[in-house]
Order: sequence, then C-alpha cells, then structure tokens
Amino acid sequence: MEIKVAFIILNIFFGTCMGSFLNVVAFRTLEDRSWWGKERSKCPKCGTLLKSIDLIPLLSYIWLGGKCRYCNTKIPRRYFLIELTGGAIGGLLAWRWGISYATILALMTAYGLLLSGITDLFSGYIYDLYALIIGIAGLLLRLPGGWVSLVDGVEGALLGFGVIAIIILVSRGGMGWGDANLMAGTGAALGWKMTGVSLYLGFMFGGAIAITLLLLRIVKRKDAIPLGPFLAIGTFLSLLFGKAILNFFGTHPGWPWF
Ligand SMILES: [Zn+2]
Repeated sequence: MEIKVAFIILNIFFGTCMGSFLNVVAFRTLEDRSWWGKERSKCPKCGTLLKSIDLIPLLSYIWLGGKCRYCNTKIPRRYFLIELTGGAIGGLLAWRWGISYATILALMTAYGLLLSGITDLFSGYIYDLYALIIGIAGLLLRLPGGWVSLVDGVEGALLGFGVIAIIILVSRGGMGWGDANLMAGTGAALGWKMTGVSLYLGFMFGGAIAITLLLLRIVKRKDAIPLGPFLAIGTFLSLLFGKAILNFFGTHPGWPWF
C-alpha cells in the first residue's frame, strides 16, 4: 500500500513537470518556434532568462504570486492550470492502474491528449503530428500483448476515425479532420471498446457543456466550440472508469489486453 501511495505522489510530481513541459511545447508549436532546441525559458515581457527556481511547477507560480520576479508582469493563469492538470492526470492514472504496464500506456495517451487539448483550446487547431505520435506509440506499446492486442489497437483507430468522419460528412461543420485523426491515434492506444466509451463520454460531456454555454449566452449558436478538449476529457474518463462501465454492461475487457 505504501508503495502505491509513493507511486501516486511520484506521478503527481512528474505530472506537474509534464504539464509545464507540454504547455511550452504547445505554445512554441502554435507560435511556430522550435521546442526541441536549446532555447531557454525567458519572460515574454522583459526577456529575462528564468532561473530554475522560477520554473518549479505550481510552486513558483504560487510564491511569485503569479507575477514575473523581474518585471512584475502577470504570468498567464494557464501555466498554473496546465501544471495542475498534468499533476492530476499523473496522480489519478497512477491511482487507477497502480504499478503496472497499463499505467505507461494510459499516461502516454493522456499526456498526448493534454497537448492536443491545449492547442485546440487556444487556437482551434489539432496537430496531426501529435495524433500520429499517440497512435504509433500506442501500437508500439501494444506489441507485448501480441497480435490480438495489435488488432484491437487498429480496430480502435478505425472506430475513432470512422465515427468522427461520419459526423463530419453528415453534419458539415463543427468538427474537423483534426478531431478524426486525434481519435484515430487515441483509438490505437485504447483498443476499440475503450475507444467507444471515450467517444460516448466525450460527446455527452461536450454536449452538456455546449448546451450550458448556449443557455448562459456565453457562446452563440454559430460559434465553433472546439471538440478536442472534450474528446480528451472523455478519453481520460474512459481511462479511469471505462473498464468499470464496460463491466457494468456485461463485457469484461482486459485492458490494455488480456
Ligand atoms: Zn518579466
């Protein structure tokens, strides 16, 4: 038990670092800057190079009061929120899957989706490269499960892509091929049953939020609401509860495989 608690805490910490890293990756991608080079983090306002003490996930933001130490410019709140989300993803998935192989696959998928969720939320754009990476990593991580688990991954990709493709063709708008590609990559990691749960939860959740925003007149009927974040949340919920939901309906999938 103590080992599992330590594992969860470790994953919360690792998750906040991942959140911090993915926030940088997402925004450097959106701004068309390279994120793999040696570019150091600096304050976008005053240009001061940030020290490691300024870059500790969550804590730096809190003790700096959300402001740059050097020029007092407000640091966007998303830094804190994305680090918090990263930590929550790590902690919850470690709690759900424990010290197991499944945790690796679940974390890879969730962080890939966090990255795509950020770009979609802030720019309405989902990068096919990220979806492709999730899909390839998902299939590679399925290799130890053998042929059956690979086929399950391919079926998941087809289901994820197919359902969204049908909606795009029928509805003509609202959803983009980025969403379809994202669910293809996600499906490859999840297998078809968990992908089905992800789509269902994503649409339910997205629909509920969209109706609420419409009723509160925060958005208008014509406004595009990005679907990516909802698909990401649906998939995350599926990673947490999909197996229990499927059990409830009388099917007992081993995940990632038997
Ligand atoms: Zn500054």
